[in-house]
This record gives sequence, C-alpha cells and structure tokens, in this order.
Amino acid sequence: MNGVLVIGASVGGLTVVEALRRKGYGGHIRLVGDEPHLPYDRPPLSKEILTGRWPIERALLRDREQLDDLDVELDLGRRAEQLDLEARTVCLDDGRHLRYDSLVIATGLAPRPLPFQPAVAGIHTLRTVDDALALRRELPTARRVVGIGAGVLGCEIAAAARSLGRQVTLIDPLSVPMARQIGGELGARIAAMHQRRGVHLRMGAGVCGFNSVNGRIGAVELADGEVVPTDLAVIAVGSVPATDWLTSSGLTLSDGIACDAYCRAAPDVYAVGDVARWRHPVTGVSTRLENRTNATEQAITVAANILRADRPYTPTPYFWTDQYDTKIQVHGVIAPDSRIRLIEGDAAAGRFVALAESGDTVTAAIGWNHPRGVRTARRRLVMDP
Ligand SMILES: Cc1cc2nc3c(=O)[nH]c(=O)nc-3n(C[C@H](O)[C@H](O)[C@H](O)COP(=O)(O)OP(=O)(O)OC[C@H]3O[C@@H](n4cnc5c(N)ncnc54)[C@H](O)[C@@H]3O)c2cc1C
Repeated sequence: MNGVLVIGASVGGLTVVEALRRKGYGGHIRLVGDEPHLPYDRPPLSKEILTGRWPIERALLRDREQLDDLDVELDLGRRAEQLDLEARTVCLDDGRHLRYDSLVIATGLAPRPLPFQPAVAGIHTLRTVDDALALRRELPTARRVVGIGAGVLGCEIAAAARSLGRQVTLIDPLSVPMARQIGGELGARIAAMHQRRGVHLRMGAGVCGFNSVNGRIGAVELADGEVVPTDLAVIAVGSVPATDWLTSSGLTLSDGIACDAYCRAAPDVYAVGDVARWRHPVTGVSTRLENRTNATEQAITVAANILRADRPYTPTPYFWTDQYDTKIQVHGVIAPDSRIRLIEGDAAAGRFVALAESGDTVTAAIGWNHPRGVRTARRRLVMDP
C-alpha cells in the first residue's frame, strides 16, 4: 500500500489529511509542500499580519503536536516537479519518486507578474507568509505606497497600509474597486469607504511602467502619462494556478486542473482548492474558486471520494473580506448585471444585508458588517444546497 500523497501543504491539502483521518482512514499519508513553514492560513496575511496585530505563529493552521497526532509524513521545503500518471509517481526536487494509491493536488496559485516588472527593490506581491513579512518590514519606512490592482487583495493591502498611516494610491483599469467580485453598485461603496479613509483612487487607469532610482522603485507610470511617485508598490493583479510542474503529466490544464464533478482529474487523482476547476453540477458552469471556504469544503468532499463516497461537489461560493472596520461577506455570485436590493439594516450606517438578483433569481446574499443577517439571507439563494 502506497497510501495517499498530497501535494501542497496549505489549507486544502491539510484539510484532506484531517478529513481522511476523521473518516477512519488508517493508511499512509504524506503531505508535501514547497514552503519551509508549517501549514498556515493566508487570509490573515493581508490583514492582521500586515498591520502587525498578530504574530506569525497565530496564522499557523495547526501546531506541531496536532500535526503529529495526524500521523502524517510531512515533507516541507520540497517541490513536486513531475507527475507520471502511468507509473503513479510524483518526482520531487530532491530526486525522490514517491508512489501513491491516491494523489491529491492542492498547489494553489502564484501571483501574476506584470510583464514589464523590473527587478528592483520596493516592488512586492503578496501570496506567502514570507511575502507578508517582507512587505511588513518595508511599510514603516515607506511614506507613499501604490497598490496596483483594486481587487479584494489590493483593497485589503490598501486598507492595511492606510491604517498604518501611509499615503496610499490604489490604481486599477476598472471603474470601481472589486468590480469583478461585487459589481458596480457595491464597488462604488468600496470606493467611497477607501476615499473616506484617505486613499487616493486612480480608477480607469492602467500602469505601463516603473521608474527606479539607484535600484529602488521611485514612481509608477500610468498609460495616460501621469507619473505617481512612490516608495513602495504592491502588485495585486490576480494569480495563476500553480500547475507548471504538471505540464507533461497528461492532465488537462486550462486555467486550473480540469476535474469531473467528483473533483477527479484522472483515475485516483484529485484536485482541491484554488487550483481545481470543475463543472458545477447545479449551475453547469465551469468553475474555479479562489477562497478559503472552498478549499476546506472541497477538501472534505475529496477525502470522502478517496474513500469511495462518489459525492459530487456542489458548493455555494462564499468569500469574505475585512477592510478597516468593515466585514463584507458574499454567499453566491454577483453577476455584472445583478440588481442589488437592500433587505435589512441601513446602508448609510454601513451595516446591512442585500440580495443580488438577476431577473427573478437571487444569485447572492451580501452582508455588510452583518454576519447574522447574511446567514439567514443565504437561504434565499437558488443554488444553496
Ligand atoms: C493574502 C491573502 C489573503 C486572503 N484573504 C482571503 C479572505 O479574506 N477570504 C477568503 O475567502 N479567501 C482569502 N484568501 C484566499 C485563500 O487564502 C485561498 O483560497 C486558500 O489559501 C486556498 O488554499 P489552497 O490550499 O487551495 O492553496 P494555497 O493556500 O495557495 O496553498 C498551496 C500550497 O502549495 C504549495 N505548492 C505550490 N506548488 C507546489 C509544488 N510544485 N510542490 C509542492 N508544493 C507546492 C504552495 O507553495 C502553497 O503552500 C486570501 C489569499 C491570500 C494570498
């Protein structure tokens, strides 16, 4: 028996291990991750870790003792380099070929670089704890910070930098922040929230270059000719699935690892979390979700399916974001043409629950500083299982 091999030692990978043990799986499990750290949680990186409110240890998902109790062989600081489906082996960067009975791929994402990004000091991305620490080290001495990309991550970074007293400019080609995730109407609320806190928004603007002085960033150039001076730039223009090591494997790779409704990419090979794409059995839409709750829920389904439960994966997408003193929670999907209808609370007071509706269909329940209300409202979702 070769047991279960899990590649990617973060929340998706670790949850598969825990769920297998909870369900009574007694075989060998090996968890391989290319980061040298014990598995940790990413959401605090752009919030509590960046602002220094939490020490790093608080972001760990489990302590050493809890990991020992799982009886899992941990291979940290080791990168998977190749998958051979026929031989049922994964080759690591130290030359070992690991055999498996079941393989779980949970390798997540890597930040998307800008094609013209120079290798100078003061330009950051944020995906790992090491990225967060590098950024946190520089924030106290940077007077001006530019955020490139006003998606969820860019907005959280802007909020963290602003609460540390930095002068912050947030740049994005779209007309409002977080437009892709929450649409124009709620995006305008996000814009107002950042402006109230003193963030300078440059929406509808594209970055086309960087100026550097003595090997350090000095300014960001916009396509309309404006030059925005800065001491620090954080690029948050999206991420790409970490599938480079699978190119020769024969798996179907198309903005993620293509899976069936059971999260299976090939016989006895599963994908979990940010890297996995599958056709959602309820909506029929090819789906890949980049959020914390999906990684956990999908991992639990995959553990069950390794143990032959044959359970299709039918989640209701959910994400949250914390910016300043505001928690925004979204169950479901807000389509670009959705109408937003307030059903509880007071929008002016910054605490409300709203529904996103397309025609007669409720596609999302949104909580704005209203966790209790949104829990109830999510029952109105058509896709809620
Ligand atoms: C800064 C930040 C803030 C976030 N905040 C929120 C939030 O507020 N709300 C929310 O819902 N979601 C949030 N997310 C998203 C959430 O953290 C992810 O959805 C979640 O981490 C996905 O888990 P995963 O296990 O699929 O992948 P990851 O957490 O990306 O883990 C993948 C692991 O695999 C490793 N790996 C990659 N390639 C290899 C290889 N070849 N060999 C070995 N190991 C490899 C990676 O280094 C990594 O350790 C945030 C993400 C980030 C980066």
